[in-house]
Amino acid sequence: MRCIFCKQDSSGSRSVEHIVPESLGNKSHVLPTGVVCDRCNQYFALKIEKVLLEQEFFKNLRHRNAIESKRGRISPSEKVLGTITFSEGEIYISNKGMNVVTVDPLSAQFIMSEW
Ligand SMILES: [Zn+2]
Repeated sequence: MRCIFCKQDSSGSRSVEHIVPESLGNKSHVLPTGVVCDRCNQYFALKIEKVLLEQEFFKNLRHRNAIESKRGRISPSEKVLGTITFSEGEIYISNKGMNVVTVDPLSAQFIMSEW
């Protein structure tokens, strides 16, 4: 069998290629072993997937969808969204000491009623 990417012999490869990355919640849509060689699989995992997962968008996406890491952890929201503070009817969302969102009292009341 030859790897679909590098065309090298991949008959000894053991890694499973996820069509959609496992880190985005895919546990069932995989290609049989050998379709992608271990070397290419490792390359995509380290050079592409790891870099993508470090982006705030993907951290937030993984948190919102409660996608666990391989160690069974879900990233905490304060690392993704920031700290949420309620004060005098307003909601403040801050991240790393910077106020990123302030919600006015009327909108805060609406948001709180929806929770
Ligand atoms: Zn390959």
